[in-house]
Amino acid sequence: MNATVPVAPDSTVELKATDRCDRCGARATTRATMASGLELLFCGHHAREYEAALKDQEFALS
Ligand SMILES: [Zn+2]
Repeated sequence: MNATVPVAPDSTVELKATDRCDRCGARATTRATMASGLELLFCGHHAREYEAALKDQEFALS
């Protein structure tokens, strides 16, 4: 019981089939995590559409 399991960062957590894009409801392929901890999910289409804007707002895309 002496091993410390590191907490996996969001980027390694696979999105589930039930995760949906916050914009259109399609299956999410990208998770965007804000510095505040707020998470947004995007489908491939919306991930590309919002990528530039999200980076400007210090989102971490995974
Ligand atoms: Zn979408």
